[in-house]
Amino acid sequence: MKIAIIGAGAAGLCAGRHCLRENIAFDIFEQTGNLGGTWNYTDLVGCDENGVPIHSSMYKGLRTNLPKELMAFEDFPYPKQNRSYLLQDEVLDYVRSYSDKFHINPHIKYFKRVIRIERQNFLWSVHYEDVKNKQKDMEHYDAVIICNGHYSDPFIPDVPGIESFSGRVKHSHDYRTPEPYANKKVLILGSGPSGLDISQQISNVATKVFLSHRSKDPLPVPDILHQKCLIKEFVENKAIFEDGTSEEIDDVVFCTGYNYNFPFLSTNCGVKITDNYVHPLYKQIISIENPTLAFLGIPFKVCPFPLFDIQVRFFLATLTGHFKLPKKEDMLQELVEEEKRKSGLPRPKYHELGKAQGSYFNDLSETAKIKMVPQVVQKLYVRVMMNRNRNNCFEIIDDDNFVQI
Ligand code: FAD
Repeated sequence: MKIAIIGAGAAGLCAGRHCLRENIAFDIFEQTGNLGGTWNYTDLVGCDENGVPIHSSMYKGLRTNLPKELMAFEDFPYPKQNRSYLLQDEVLDYVRSYSDKFHINPHIKYFKRVIRIERQNFLWSVHYEDVKNKQKDMEHYDAVIICNGHYSDPFIPDVPGIESFSGRVKHSHDYRTPEPYANKKVLILGSGPSGLDISQQISNVATKVFLSHRSKDPLPVPDILHQKCLIKEFVENKAIFEDGTSEEIDDVVFCTGYNYNFPFLSTNCGVKITDNYVHPLYKQIISIENPTLAFLGIPFKVCPFPLFDIQVRFFLATLTGHFKLPKKEDMLQELVEEEKRKSGLPRPKYHELGKAQGSYFNDLSETAKIKMVPQVVQKLYVRVMMNRNRNNCFEIIDDDNFVQI
């Protein structure tokens, strides 16, 4: 058996490490010259020197929003001397050391961009392009694990009148440093982790920062951020909000999240995206139509590293015969019931776990009889989420920096 893994970020490396543990042959296709995906910071926006769209949404000075204990693979802790809330390059170093320790690097095909995968005669054809010389090639595999990351394709909502706004408009995907916003009046749209973090960075240099969000109650954020409800429209450079107030704005940063995007999937892969919901998948991992196709890291509001680890062990258990998948109709039935339970939610929230992360881990572990994620991960995650509410979204840690947790 040979597996194709798409992407050499934390998820792809974790998939490679467990293939090695199970003695399964694999190749990792990586479109850039680096492993570590998101954790590679670059000043570049747009495309890189090979014409590949910049993948990473990393900005300078980012501190992690989870402590290192929740960002580790189980059998590979961070160095003791690392602080709890890490800098971007400390996570990158960790991921590189993980690859070194488990000898994953020799399996990575760098500068190879997967452009199409399709099901053919019980095998997967993986078509890829060498991004340097543009030569195209194809190889066959028995199974595919998709680890292409979910924070690269910006979601930008329609805002009426935005075309009349003459200031700068960016998405957080292209935000790198606060300096360009010095002495400006900046509107941040969205109060997720990036929105809170970026508004706080920009507030150090801007004249005023307005944070527009959908929450009915004021968010517990520093007073320096002027909170606004959702935006209704732009009339030239005036932002008009749903409560009828308005502000003159110089710059807008959309921190409105990302789309799942698998541009290389052929229709015969049997997986669709509807309103940012990826389906039909068994346990948010395995394609029900083609169960030798798996996706890592689809759920959000999670601890991504422990999630990748248990998801890939779950999938490999099905391939090695350690766990036999239910019949197709039973998997579909389980999905229908899950969708019914979620039917009160907007579709883009179907993959949100949050507090349900622990029971999701339990379910994977019990279903496939695989090792559970350590209980401490779930307990600490709940604790971190509680602190987040208690400590006004920002917690003072070991120096003068505020870090959103
Ligand atoms: P990525 O790291 O995105 O890697 C995907 C890889 O796939 C990339 O190397 C890309 O080049 C490659 N690729 C994509 N398409 C193709 C293709 N067609 N062919 C070949 N290669 C391809 N998580 C935390 O746990 N804590 C945090 O504090 C935290 N902060 C974050 C801050 C920001 C700004 C962002 C964007 C994310 C943050 N995350 C955080 C989430 C982070 O994305 C995950 O922790 C994790 O690193 C994602 O790993 P991944 O392997 O799924 O994806």
